[in-house]
Amino acid sequence: MSVQKRKTCDHIEIRGAKVHNLKNIDLDIPLHQIVGIAGVSGSGKSSLALGILYAEGSRRYLESLSTYTRRRMTQASQAAVDEILYVPAALALRQRPAIPGIRSTFGTATELLNSLRLLVSRCAHHVCPNGHVVEPSLAVAAGQELICPVCHTHFMAPSAEELAFNSQGACSHCHGTGKVQSVDLKTLIPNEDLSIDEGAVAPWNSLMWSLMKDVCREMGVRTDIPFKELSKKEKEIVYFGKPVKKHILYQPKNSDTVTPLDFTYYSAVHTVENALAKVKDEKGMKRVEKFLKEEDCPACHGTRLSDAARAPKCAGLSLDEICQMSLADALKWVHHVPSTLPEEMRPMAWRIVESFESVARRLMDLGLGYLSLDRASNTLSTGERQRMQLARAVRNRTTGVLYVLDEPSIGLHPSNAKGLAGVMDDLVQDGNSVIVVDHDTGILKKTDWIVEMGPQAGSQGGQVIAQGTPEALCQNPNSIIGPFLKTESQIQRKDNTNLFDQGTITLSTNAIHTVKPLEVRIPKGKLSVVSGVSGSGKTTLILESLVPALEASLKKLPLPDHVKRIEALGISHIKLIDASPIGINVRSTVATYANVHDELRKIFAKQTKDYKAGDFSYNTGKLRCPVCDGTGQIALDVQFLADVQIPCPECHGSRYSKQAETIRYHDLSLPQLMAMDIDTALKHCQDLKKVQERLEILSQLGLGYLTLAEQTPSLSGGEAQRLKLASEMKKAQHDSIFVFDEPTIGLHPLDVQVLMKIFASLIQQGATVIVIEHDLDVIRQADYVIDMGPGGGQEGGRIVACGTPEQIKNASESITGKYL
Ligand code: ADP
Ligand code: ADP
Ligand code: ZN
Ligand code: ZN
Repeated sequence: MSVQKRKTCDHIEIRGAKVHNLKNIDLDIPLHQIVGIAGVSGSGKSSLALGILYAEGSRRYLESLSTYTRRRMTQASQAAVDEILYVPAALALRQRPAIPGIRSTFGTATELLNSLRLLVSRCAHHVCPNGHVVEPSLAVAAGQELICPVCHTHFMAPSAEELAFNSQGACSHCHGTGKVQSVDLKTLIPNEDLSIDEGAVAPWNSLMWSLMKDVCREMGVRTDIPFKELSKKEKEIVYFGKPVKKHILYQPKNSDTVTPLDFTYYSAVHTVENALAKVKDEKGMKRVEKFLKEEDCPACHGTRLSDAARAPKCAGLSLDEICQMSLADALKWVHHVPSTLPEEMRPMAWRIVESFESVARRLMDLGLGYLSLDRASNTLSTGERQRMQLARAVRNRTTGVLYVLDEPSIGLHPSNAKGLAGVMDDLVQDGNSVIVVDHDTGILKKTDWIVEMGPQAGSQGGQVIAQGTPEALCQNPNSIIGPFLKTESQIQRKDNTNLFDQGTITLSTNAIHTVKPLEVRIPKGKLSVVSGVSGSGKTTLILESLVPALEASLKKLPLPDHVKRIEALGISHIKLIDASPIGINVRSTVATYANVHDELRKIFAKQTKDYKAGDFSYNTGKLRCPVCDGTGQIALDVQFLADVQIPCPECHGSRYSKQAETIRYHDLSLPQLMAMDIDTALKHCQDLKKVQERLEILSQLGLGYLTLAEQTPSLSGGEAQRLKLASEMKKAQHDSIFVFDEPTIGLHPLDVQVLMKIFASLIQQGATVIVIEHDLDVIRQADYVIDMGPGGGQEGGRIVACGTPEQIKNASESITGKYL
């Protein structure tokens, strides 16, 4: 038999790639290495990485699967490329992983809980049906019954399955969610200065008939004096009074006749409970939700586990107690378990410990050691979830797979960059290839090869402007990222004597999660950055405390439970600008979101007698395409496959009917204008003042490459954030605070400079800017830094240092300071 020599190849060959803005490019990408893809926003990085490499890799992967599996995945269509050779099966780790379900925890998602359940099932002291404790023995591992030495009962120890809260081990009261909902008394009477007649009882206003006030009066409560002046007994009736029938005289509006009626009294609490029981849809839930709070389940104390599942104790701890420890502590504990067991059980125990340890170490390297295993996955940040996925990819020990990582630097403190590099190295060691799309120079420096897209965005980009090792790129005059790889920016020396000259925002909080009680001062009219490693408490301080407390105090509502005090004299507007997607509906476009479309409709309506502005709406107007109903796409019903969306064959995605083409302003139709990118549209709208103003702002924010008709749900996180900012720019005044959550996501170092200019202009207009950020360039340019930490979880939750960037650099306890 002749051995056929298999053609091996060390690179992927791409020929004639044309996806989105890619300019028919030819490119070879090395395999079995870490390849970075760099370039300004909109230059075509994702089009190359996801649109070509991942799309082709996953399509081929899918083709190798059975139809059964394929039907359950969205169909990947063939990428617009002439030829692509040697592309391995691909897996993508997306920038924004899907939000996990309520039964997912850090422990289940990392599969660490599997090892722990096995460990507890096999190695714990179990409890016999008569309540006696039975020493650990190899019997469990052998699948045999245990025999109680006291009462001689034979019984089976709970299996790993019976210890699972997703299955037989679930607490029956909360069904393994660990949470129950109850009425939040604090929300029922938001303003005690009002009388009941004036609408003091909020649930009666939104969930009940208004005549509940009259019934309440019949209950013996005075309804015409401020609620706070009622007696204790009266208040008791309002909150909790029994549902008794009362006779009232009812006078319908616009009527003189008075009808006697019998009505059952619904106390404020009962009103909410009744509404909750009857809720039918999302909208109804929204109305009830604001009167509810979620609490730990009283039966299992939030552990999700049944009494039986919490009974076995392994080296002194029950499964729920183990899961409450941080991963770092759990790892130490697991290590000591074998030594507590009889000699003959130890090899078995060690095997379980090792499988736990290999995953745990990886997660620790990625800076997640502060998370406890029982932490609900839906409370993790996107960065934490993405790193969790990464660790899982390494654990699976695949080989020959192409991993496409989309901005893994999100939420990653510079001190964890090494852990990330370690994971990428391990993937390559196992025979995989890694493509990493990122702007973070710390990460790009750790790659073996960089492909740089550009030179600019949209139609001005889509080409490979440079490629080579990071060192080579530093020397390459065509490279835009090169200089940023070579040198780092410097701390801007700032005068700190009049940092608080425009006023101070003060916040004082009690302990929450692992965050300690805090006293925070933030200068008004300045750029403040909140820094610190992942899990140190940044989100808790700003998004869970400062923002809701300010919003509540502006609306005169009760402060969040853990907030003691907030003072923000002269502030009347607070706006959080985050990177969450805009809309879920294909009908939201850049032009509609930026209020440009409305203006354009009016202009075009003026060019004709036959149509009004409303007719130009592609949602409802007469001029929308009749085939796709104005969505620009139609669903192709391919048998056996999930729906495939294709551009509408009638309007080619323009969303408009042929008639709309005939109505022109300066020779352009509205569909033609909508198909332009913002910078091009600007040139055609010079004499339309309002349109021009709005487009100008978008262009200044570096979004000039987006087309007006682009759907907002498909914008990247960074693009969505800047689009939101555009609609808020005008409100920047002395009374406004802008809060940004990692605004550098998706931004090239050049764009970070643009962002800094935007911050500067917000501040010049008098606004206060507060930014949660890891990016060292941003921190270096801040007026004031609040550094949280020193570590994550129990090791963090304090303000380690605050002051100018220079003061942070010199603060010995600050981890951030070491990198400045
Ligand atoms: P980057 O990842 O470098 O930010 P992208 O590859 O996302 O850039 O985008 C490159 C260009 O392709 C941009 O002009 C963008 O507007 C356009 N583009 C991206 N996604 C789509 C899409 N789904 N449909 C049409 N154009 C798109
Ligand atoms: P950062 O934003 O700096 O990454 P966070 O404020 O998100 O930090 O987290 C601070 C600490 O609080 C961490 O130990 C985190 O695990 C914990 N934590 C945050 N949110 C929750 C939550 N919803 N439930 C329990 N613990 C939480
Ligand atoms: Zn429970
Ligand atoms: Zn159409």
